Amino acid sequence: MTGWKKPILLTVFCYISPMNENNDLYWMSRALQLAEQAAVVDEVPVGAVVVLDNQMIGEGWNQPISGQDPSAHAEIMALRDAAKNMANYRLSDATLYVTIEPCTMCAGAIVHARIKRVVFGALEPKAGAVVSQSQLFEQPWLNHWPEWTGGVMAESCREAISRFFRRRRAEKKAAKLASRCDCSATHDNPEQSDG
Ligand SMILES: [Zn+2]
Repeated sequence: MTGWKKPILLTVFCYISPMNENNDLYWMSRALQLAEQAAVVDEVPVGAVVVLDNQMIGEGWNQPISGQDPSAHAEIMALRDAAKNMANYRLSDATLYVTIEPCTMCAGAIVHARIKRVVFGALEPKAGAVVSQSQLFEQPWLNHWPEWTGGVMAESCREAISRFFRRRRAEKKAAKLASRCDCSATHDNPEQSDG
């Protein structure tokens, strides 16, 4: 649990009751599967599901680049999907599961949607708006305060991100090496230099 900045909040909010625990693990696994769909199209792997009465009512994965949409984070996509399916822009009593701590935009949308509870996996130290960089859900000026639980399958969620960036770094390195090889091949070719 290292990396959490709010150990006191953690003890209050991170308690998972035995009743919730199995559901949380199950739905976070679904969110992780969706995160892989993002990775397939070279987007940072984050996945989200919206659940009501133990039924999935919305799903989404991170797709701002392929969707040419700066707001197309996994949570926003899942909220849009759920709102459409429920024919209601309010998702009261629903739980949103997301593999990474929500950013400011997504935390704001979660409040607008009146999501009852948010469950996230790994922390997002650079831009997380639940505990890491700000604590949006604790702000007194809000008109709705979602309950939240962090750290569910955190290791697997973090590993999905790390694996993605490791793969990307390796691909970039390989591409760089390949371009160097092409270059030296051209330079070594006397016919080309004579031209
Ligand atoms: Zn976001």
